Amino acid sequence: MDETSRVEVPVEILSTLNVPPGRSTKYVFGTPDRSTFEAVRLWEGDRGGYSVCMSAQAGCRYGCTHCATTFARTPFVRNLRPEEITAAVQAVTEPVRTHQGPLVWVDFAGVGDAAANWTHVATAARAITDRDLAKQVKVTSIAPQGWVRRLLRVNAWLPDRFMFSLHGATATQRQVIIPHADDPSAVLPLWAAVAEQRPVVLNYVLCEHNTRPADEAALIQLLAPYAGRFVLLRLSSINPVHGSPLRPSTREADFIAALSHGLEGWVVSHHLSAGREAAAACGQLRSEILDLTPPTSRSRQADTTD
Ligand code: SF4
Repeated sequence: MDETSRVEVPVEILSTLNVPPGRSTKYVFGTPDRSTFEAVRLWEGDRGGYSVCMSAQAGCRYGCTHCATTFARTPFVRNLRPEEITAAVQAVTEPVRTHQGPLVWVDFAGVGDAAANWTHVATAARAITDRDLAKQVKVTSIAPQGWVRRLLRVNAWLPDRFMFSLHGATATQRQVIIPHADDPSAVLPLWAAVAEQRPVVLNYVLCEHNTRPADEAALIQLLAPYAGRFVLLRLSSINPVHGSPLRPSTREADFIAALSHGLEGWVVSHHLSAGREAAAACGQLRSEILDLTPPTSRSRQADTTD
């Protein structure tokens, strides 16, 4: 039986792509209304099992300038429904489940932002762990203030771990990568409050515009008061995306060294982007193998009632 025949409605596998050199596989899914979205099954060698990088939306409205979704030919269509997310995770898991058991985690780090479809993502996440498809759920997000305040409500459901995208030391700088991002100085206290409840990693993608000497000082000044509050600051090499104006930094090593020495009380790590190896970094996931008929109805763009 091939993988396609095992997939249950409401999604079907349109294509798969094995991503060398590891054991990672990228999936493109379709829905009956011809929306498409993606997931990547990733081999987590040090954990001896697979994870899944999962999409939250068909397309994305945020327009981040380091992101392949922004420059893809398929625009934002709609939020994914819980049953679509869960069915896709099940389909990606089935080929390896017999040997591996549950996924080590599902990370909502694919196309779209989980914060923009939170009710559906949270419902799917609970189903994924309840059905033992994965041991943990992670969420990667640009983490806007409104969503973070929602997380901080009493009795709000929370995933096991978070990664929040910083990408700049000031609002102006951050907005070069995330056009509608909040001011970091306003949102960081909220992020720190979340970090009291769940482990939170801060991610900072390294590119020319945010790794200048002045940026080192600004970032150190911004983050110094939060020493010990977050798991770590992850400095991620950018995965160059066709159409993006952003370029890899020429002083990456200097910037990493400055942050490592200058941020007392912080763990600073360098992450050679997963996008370079498996095309699965947040927002750098968009496949280049799509050439599909447009969705049947754009009216579903209004499907953001949650
Ligand atoms: S990085 Fe994530 S939030 Fe930003 S445009 Fe890409 S998919 Fe959307």
